[in-house]
Amino acid sequence: MTIAVLLAGFGLGCDAAAQPAGGSDDPIGRVLRQEQTAPGGPPPATSLPVAPTKAPPARGAGPSPGGNAGGSPPIVLSARIGEHDDRTRFVIELSDPVNLRTFTLTNPDRVVVDMPEVSWRLGAPPRPSGLGSVKSYRYGVFRKGNSRMVIDLNRPVTVSDPLVIPPSAGFGYRVVIDLFPTQRGKFNTEAGWPADLKARETDAERLTALMEEAPRTAGRKVIVIDPGHGGLDSGTNGVNDLMEKDLVLAEGLRLAKILKAEGYAVHMTRDSDVFIPLPERVAIARKLKADLMISLHADSNPDSSVNGLSIYTLNDGRSDREAAALANRENQSDIIAGVDLSSANSPVAPILIDLAQRDTINRSSRFAETALGQLHSVTDILSRSPHRAASLAVLVAPDVPAVLIELGYLSNRSDAAQMDTEAWRGRVAQAIADAVDRHFAAGSAGTPP
Ligand SMILES: [Zn+2]
Repeated sequence: MTIAVLLAGFGLGCDAAAQPAGGSDDPIGRVLRQEQTAPGGPPPATSLPVAPTKAPPARGAGPSPGGNAGGSPPIVLSARIGEHDDRTRFVIELSDPVNLRTFTLTNPDRVVVDMPEVSWRLGAPPRPSGLGSVKSYRYGVFRKGNSRMVIDLNRPVTVSDPLVIPPSAGFGYRVVIDLFPTQRGKFNTEAGWPADLKARETDAERLTALMEEAPRTAGRKVIVIDPGHGGLDSGTNGVNDLMEKDLVLAEGLRLAKILKAEGYAVHMTRDSDVFIPLPERVAIARKLKADLMISLHADSNPDSSVNGLSIYTLNDGRSDREAAALANRENQSDIIAGVDLSSANSPVAPILIDLAQRDTINRSSRFAETALGQLHSVTDILSRSPHRAASLAVLVAPDVPAVLIELGYLSNRSDAAQMDTEAWRGRVAQAIADAVDRHFAAGSAGTPP
């Protein structure tokens, strides 16, 4: 684990454009010399990657050390990847100084770069070749107040102390992070969440555990709506650039509004663009003793002609290949967001289902069938077996009936276009709400609730 503090005020007040770029006395020159003389450090890359020429960031109120007067989060202005023989170098340019730290995780191998909440304005982010240490990377909000970049690795690396370059030559604050190939044993020894982060996560779990139970007025059913993904996990990307995380949040909020108006006690696992780990979503539903959990997602398929809505309930992993692949995609969420799975139950482990859970699954299935009946008349339904079962980590609560609705295929042009319209979203949310009504009406009329 390494911590870097971008020094507030360093170099501020200089006329950035007047700095001789690469000159011996400019801040970059000083930092580079410092890097070259670092004792015991690996040999430096030949040069900093050259960032595209552009105007310095606009600052309405002028430079202000330690953040900006408006209270808006620092802006990530650009990012570059330099792939050299001896290292892969990330350069992140920011409008304001931030605290930042890195650590590594195994299984799969990742580098996590944590920082306070920042606003990402990267345009088209640079892509790695895939041949060096970096397989891929992503970034976004991890929790409220905490942004994160997660780098997937092709091989074990050692991460350098983040190097800080104060504003100069038209750039904002730049952070340089080098990844050096290393031995498997060394990587595994060094990997793991920093102790204080672990403590914070435990606190978060405790908080969830202490969360006040929903007031359960007689006859008021508790519905948990769970929009999938969020924050740095954007889910599937649509052919029309509609992101799964945005679609399911919008649809979840719409459904919540309808159900609240109908008198249900509604709780959302997330109501903003933030990441929530899968076990925490399950914990929320259990803590609230939800009568039903509805997880919302959208799917993709290499065959762009596949379209339609489908509903998943839990099974123990003995599913067909397609359902197993879906489960694998949706269960990746925590890995994507850089959650440490070493101490928790891996979401991809086989799921053991006990007898009590079978009853819960039966109730889930009953809701799935009711919902498909309602949805049939308002949207396309997956042509074969729209009610499917898969080993989905978000559906494992033994005492909460739960379904995962794949609203449609973002890989299908017609589905993606429809899902981007108010009309479709309104229709589908209403149909799901109607299904909730029918489901509980049937329960109280005869079947035990
Ligand atoms: Zn999803």
